[in-house]
Amino acid sequence: MPKKNIHFNYQDKVAIVTGAGQGIGRAVAIAFAAAGARVVVTDINLENADSVLKEIISEKADGLALQVDVSDSKSIENMVSMTVKTFNRIDILVNNAGIAHRGDIFTLTEEGWDRLMAVNVKGVWLCSREVLKVMIKNGSGRIINIGSISGWLGGHEVGADYAVSKAGVAVLTKRLANEMAGRGTTVNSVAPHAIETPMTEGHGKDGRERIVSKIPVKRFGRPEEVAASVLFLASEEAGYITGQTLHVNGGTLMVY
Ligand code: NAD
Repeated sequence: MPKKNIHFNYQDKVAIVTGAGQGIGRAVAIAFAAAGARVVVTDINLENADSVLKEIISEKADGLALQVDVSDSKSIENMVSMTVKTFNRIDILVNNAGIAHRGDIFTLTEEGWDRLMAVNVKGVWLCSREVLKVMIKNGSGRIINIGSISGWLGGHEVGADYAVSKAGVAVLTKRLANEMAGRGTTVNSVAPHAIETPMTEGHGKDGRERIVSKIPVKRFGRPEEVAASVLFLASEEAGYITGQTLHVNGGTLMVY
């Protein structure tokens, strides 16, 4: 008989979230913990990762905080081996860590472009590659990559490097999904726009007003609204969805 009430159960699941020290990653980590998962809170900023882990533990959930630079393969190998050593499994990977630049094509620097690609694109590949070795052995897994509307539209309040990197995330999502299809692991992306996080604080009052004026629902989104989409795609119930991007943007794609 089909289930009448669908609610996502993450009891006994282990979820790694990158860039989970603040913003969207923090909300995703807390949402998984509230749903019963053991969460590996990873960030380049260990102090922030530790403080998110404290929040999780104060809610009687379990987890681990690790300092991880997603652009560094050694750091990622350590993330995977520590997770397996501590919890003996990995069910979910959320590739959330990202950095953003602003400016036109003349103000970007080569160094900045390379660093951004290393974190936003190479990081997704490296983390997925390492975690997939475990997921393939287990015969199941869920990967969710945090993309962006700018990867669809080209972006205007962010640099070209950022928009190109997020287009890369969308394509990498499809490619990883295709390579994993039939092996128990799905790979999807959530593409937000204008979420209230430290990343968007730098837009300033004028920038925010410009952004909100182009969003049909006339507000920024909350990190928890992105987290809910991630939890849906990570659920067992979403097992027939792969290679997709779920847009969380207050309807913005309707008007472009
Ligand atoms: P944020 O800047 O608030 O948080 C990003 C986190 O990633 C920080 O904790 C940071 O320390 C961490 N990080 C940066 N470089 C890292 C690295 N090399 N290794 C590990 N961790 C690293 O940003 P956010 O708004 O929460 O963004 C999260 C994700 O969502 C990013 O991928 C971002 O591009 C994407 N996104 C955000 C928005 C938005 O409006 N906020 C919109 C679209 C997409």
